[in-house]
Order: sequence, then C-alpha cells, then structure tokens
Amino acid sequence: MKKILLDMTLDELKAYLMGLGQPAFRAKQVFSWLHKGASYDEMRNLPAALREKLAEECYDQPSQIHDVFPSQKDDTVKFLYALHDGNIVEGVLMHYHYGYSLCISTQVGCKMGCAFCASTLNGCVRSLSAGEMLSEVLLANRYLGEKGKVGHIVLMGSGEPLDNYDNVVRFLRLVNDPDGLNISLRNISLSTCGLVPRIEKLKEEKLPVTLSISLHAPNDTIRKQIMPVANTWPINELMQAVRSYVADTGRRVVFEYALIDKLNSTPEHARELSKLIRGLQCHVNLIPLNYVEESPLIPASPKTVQTFLATLEAEHISATVRREMGSDIGGACGQLRRRHLEGKA
Ligand code: SAH
Repeated sequence: MKKILLDMTLDELKAYLMGLGQPAFRAKQVFSWLHKGASYDEMRNLPAALREKLAEECYDQPSQIHDVFPSQKDDTVKFLYALHDGNIVEGVLMHYHYGYSLCISTQVGCKMGCAFCASTLNGCVRSLSAGEMLSEVLLANRYLGEKGKVGHIVLMGSGEPLDNYDNVVRFLRLVNDPDGLNISLRNISLSTCGLVPRIEKLKEEKLPVTLSISLHAPNDTIRKQIMPVANTWPINELMQAVRSYVADTGRRVVFEYALIDKLNSTPEHARELSKLIRGLQCHVNLIPLNYVEESPLIPASPKTVQTFLATLEAEHISATVRREMGSDIGGACGQLRRRHLEGKA
C-alpha cells in the first residue's frame, strides 16, 4: 500500500529520505512543500528521479476537493473531500471577524450512535490518518488562495476524535509544526461525546487545545436516551475527568448543548445543568438542534432557546447561542455527505 507522506513528522521524513539515499537537508524541503499543499509536480527544487521514486511509494496530497457548496446567505463554504480510496468526508469553512475557521472530519462516519446526528447513521467506515486531516486544512487554504488562510480549527465534523486518538494527536502536533502550518493549538477545539479514559489520556499530552464536551443533557436519564456513550461513562465520571482536565491544563472547557423540544430544554433542565457545572471554568455553547430527516427529535423553538439562555445567565453561567452559519448548505454534521451518498448533493 502507498504511504501518505503527510502522515510523517519531519524526523520520520528525514529517516525515510535518508533511507532513499537523500541528503539530510532534503526532508525540510519536502516537508515544507507538502505542508503548502503542493503536489510532486510543484516541488521543482527536488531531483526528478526523487520525485518519481516518491510518487511510486507515497501519496503527496492524499485527498482532493470533490465538491464545493458556498452558502448564499453568508461566507460559509462547505467542502466534500474525496479521500484516496474514494471515501468522502465533509468540512466547513467559516469566516469570522478573527479570520477563517475550518471544521474538519476525523473519521468517515461515526460509531457513537448519537440519536440526533447524521454522521452516525451508517456507522463508521474508517478513521482518517493524521495526513488526511491535515489535507483538509491544506485544501481549504488552497481554495482560499489570496483571500487568507485557515487560522482556527474545530474537530467537529464527522467522527469521534478520541476514538481516533493516536492519529488526532499526531495531527495536532503536525498542524502546529513551525516548519509546517504552525497553527496555534490554542486556536484548535477538540470536541468529544465523552470517552472518559481518553480525556484523561489527552490531559497528559499537555496540548493546549480547547476541550469541547458534547453534553446535551443535565442528567444520565436524559443523556442515555440520546447518547449511547452515557451507558458506558455516566455524567459523574465525565464531570470528574473534565474537572481534572481543567485543573491540570488551566484551560476553560466548553459544553455543547443542543436544545431539543421537550427533552432537554425546559428552565428546570437549565437549572439542573447550572448545578452540574457550577464552579467550573467553562462556557456553554447552546446549539439550536439541526433538524435531521431520519431522526424523530424536534428542534426547540427560538423562544425556548432564549429562555434556556436567560435561565443559565440568571444562574451566572457563561453561555451563548451558537450562530447558525451556512444553514442552507446542510449545516448539521454529516448531512452533506449523507445527501451525497444518496445522490442528492
Ligand atoms: N464526535 C464529536 C465531534 C463531532 S460532532 C462530538 O460528539 O463532540 C460536533 C458537534 O455537533 C457535537 O457537539 C454534536 O453533538 C453536535 N451535533 C451533531 N448533530 C447535531 C444536530 N443534528 N444538531 C445540533 N448539533 C449536532
């Protein structure tokens, strides 16, 4: 099988190229080209024979943009990326006052089974390698061209990042490499449905990323109805891991909370949530549920969302309602890929 050059750290690339009889300085040249999103054809300062040899053994850029869906309402662009094996994942490029932020996928599909999420409907096909995740960023940069560069990344596309732990951690180190994209880890959010042992492991990596927890419920009874992961790791264990993460890293944690009609969105639920997270250095991101055709769950009304927000604020909990961007292009996780699979994209 062909290797993916973008998976390699600079040191690994050095070892690999030296094995091909190349001088030590070559690795930095190749690394720098790769992390600009360049193909072998563009690497003009490399000997032609080396480029040929590399092309036989490795992918330069392992993915390409399969399709682009610009929003008519705002600057948001949705990408379908084609991976080298024909699998498709999606990414969303958003334009904020602080620059461009890209939401990337970490797996083809997802196996977590959350009731509201389109990514998980067909299970998980496979995990993405570190280089494939990097490629999502590089392709977005190429798409932007002179307009700018991706400065912020959220791991909130399809997949559960902590179910693809080693590749995700490798990706984080690669994307932060000063010889590569050099994106600050503080500008990266990693979102998880709550794999407790992996949160504990991540804490030990000492990477200053923002941890986002998809909580979506103030107690286990409700959480179990919509998130199977709650059967394995109850809320008290999750909260213990989060508290320890915050204490050790000093980083504020973000709780994602999708408001679903009746199920989790009354003022009592808001007060129960406040109690659960009181005293923790945190922020609550309220998401009006994105309607998914295949799911019976109904989004809470705008009025319910506002009341929920006001109740949290009255309890002195820092919270905002996530601005809906690109809602006309299949905003919710996994919806665009799903439509593509059904031949409707
Ligand atoms: N697996 C990770 C990251 C991917 S999902 C996680 O669970 O956090 C990114 C975020 O979108 C999560 O908070 C997820 O719960 C949320 N999400 C998924 N489907 C949604 C929908 N239909 N409406 C609103 N939010 C949704």
